[in-house]
Amino acid sequence: MAMEYDVIVVGAGHAGTEAAVMSARLGAKTLLLTSNLDTIGQLSCNPAIGGIAKGTVVREIDALGGIMGRATDRATIQFRMLNRSKGPAVWAPRAQCDRTLYRRAARALLERFPNLELTQGMVSRLILEGTQVAGVATSDGRGFTDTQIPAGRAGDQPAVAVAQHIESLGLTVSRFKTGTPPRVDGRSVDWSKVERQDGDQTAYRFSFYERAERPPQVPCWITWAGEAVKDIVRRHLKESALYGGAIAARGPRYCPSVEDKIVKFPDAQRHQVFLEPEGLDTHELYVNGLSTSLPVSVQLEFLHAVPGLERARLTRPGYAIEYDYYPPTQLTPWLETKAIERLFFAGQINGTTGYEEAAGQGVVAGINAVRRVRGLEPVLFARDEAYIGVLVDDLITRGVDEPYRLFTSRSEFRLLLRQDNALRRLAPLAERLQLLTAQEWRDAERRLREEELLLDTARETTLSPDQAARVLAPTGTALAEPERVATVARRPGVGLRALLEAAGVAVSCDDAVVASAEIELKYDGYLAREREAASRLAELAGFVLPVELPYLELRSLATEARQKLDRVRPTSLAQAARIPGVSPSDLHNLVVETARWRRRVA
Ligand SMILES: Cc1cc2nc3c(=O)[nH]c(=O)nc-3n(C[C@H](O)[C@H](O)[C@H](O)COP(=O)(O)OP(=O)(O)OC[C@H]3O[C@@H](n4cnc5c(N)ncnc54)[C@H](O)[C@@H]3O)c2cc1C
Repeated sequence: MAMEYDVIVVGAGHAGTEAAVMSARLGAKTLLLTSNLDTIGQLSCNPAIGGIAKGTVVREIDALGGIMGRATDRATIQFRMLNRSKGPAVWAPRAQCDRTLYRRAARALLERFPNLELTQGMVSRLILEGTQVAGVATSDGRGFTDTQIPAGRAGDQPAVAVAQHIESLGLTVSRFKTGTPPRVDGRSVDWSKVERQDGDQTAYRFSFYERAERPPQVPCWITWAGEAVKDIVRRHLKESALYGGAIAARGPRYCPSVEDKIVKFPDAQRHQVFLEPEGLDTHELYVNGLSTSLPVSVQLEFLHAVPGLERARLTRPGYAIEYDYYPPTQLTPWLETKAIERLFFAGQINGTTGYEEAAGQGVVAGINAVRRVRGLEPVLFARDEAYIGVLVDDLITRGVDEPYRLFTSRSEFRLLLRQDNALRRLAPLAERLQLLTAQEWRDAERRLREEELLLDTARETTLSPDQAARVLAPTGTALAEPERVATVARRPGVGLRALLEAAGVAVSCDDAVVASAEIELKYDGYLAREREAASRLAELAGFVLPVELPYLELRSLATEARQKLDRVRPTSLAQAARIPGVSPSDLHNLVVETARWRRRVA
């Protein structure tokens, strides 16, 4: 007899775990059915979470009640805020994790939900009632009924049965490739030849709701692959699965193999290589930057040509694989398949790459599967509300022609979608959807109120030239007459806390609250302009593009966009917008560049 659930999640990868958590938080009776319970929370390749745009997604997932941020905090062995020297729109928290601690944390966090059952089993087919899915059957003959979210990788060898079954139901399947670098034994590294990179000394946590004790921190190490590595790779290129023809599918542009780097960027003198610890209780290092599908003997040869790795012992070779995905244009904006009702897809199965992208989709699918069961309207995240919204919108409207990865450049609302304001953007929605516990919402509300209060105080407090003098002295500026703190705070290099304190206001809130408020004040004008630009862009969709536009020379567009526009040569901005990889910010720049080009040739 089939066991009944409200929502069945198939596959406990990063998409599946977040989907299951959302479903459980919404009070649905949820089953997380996965091929191996021991691999829940597995960081299948690099044990690192966050980074450009992805770090913001982790914050968004956390604001909505997901587990990725909490698990990361418990497993962080090195933390860095990337891009800190640039504007806050692109600040990117990134954590190197202990692989084992992460897995343990994910499992423990899942087991907190009484209405979430974890079960081991390999789903071999869907149980259908007409065009609706009614349950799943496992290869050992068990049946489970109701709405589900297959979140497993479509191409995993043992998942072939269900993949074939889904294809037979009318969904188109396609293939991508990806690879990993070799790993080495840290005891065989010559540390005198590599550069030590320590993490930031900061109290930063991905999770707002839970403050985990951080494990001991360790450094990463930097070295590089130069001419000697290039020679070896070039000599053996034909033996590469990626270049020799064994693997023909498209790989991730932003995570290229060493073969790709050397073929596509022949002029680059050297490529950076990061040696990243796999965990606290192992010497194994992940050789980030040298992903490859060359034979093991060649991997050893080029590794030994890297400074510091001359005597490196290989613990695991790199490899490349091909996997299936279902082009995501087959999905609704709430990630339900158009062909089979009540079947939702999230994660790598939709052509994305990255743990965070998978987890973000899991959130959307998990929330909406429950709403589908309850007959409620779907919940969609707008592009100016969350990177998760950008991600899903890009997937379902543009599709993918290479593994999709999030970048800040994918968003036309980069200043609105910051890592520091994820709670403000999403916690109120999470509360409305009833995703948060009463305590979590109380904490979030308190934090948001604190920030508002601080902003109000900054707008209402006046600072005299005398009071401002000491704070402004290092910037070489001064006040000619009294001004509001909020106005003075817009000046570069001036801290909000220092200004308020100079005006005699005691600031008791923590640094994160002050930092967020400060960004809101400093970028006030830019934020307003970003919204305006977005509405103008919508009007320009009918804009005609001259066929002879020299796309490859349009430097303000991303390289990917330039190449694709050059290939397709669209006739209008509307057509350009439909080309995968051309982001709204590229379109905005294209309008400016086209006007400039017209003036030049007129
Ligand atoms: C070689 C390689 C290297 C990568 N390197 C990185 C990297 O360094 N950084 C990064 O961010 N991303 C990397 N990625 C991508 C990243 O691993 C994926 O995008 C992400 O893990 C996908 O998450 P997911 O939840 O969609 O699927 P997965 O994490 O693959 O989880 C799917 C789960 O479902 C289970 N499952 C599958 N089929 C069934 C079934 N029929 N029944 C029951 N259970 C099933 C699987 O066993 C698995 O546990 C890499 C991927 C590969 C293949």
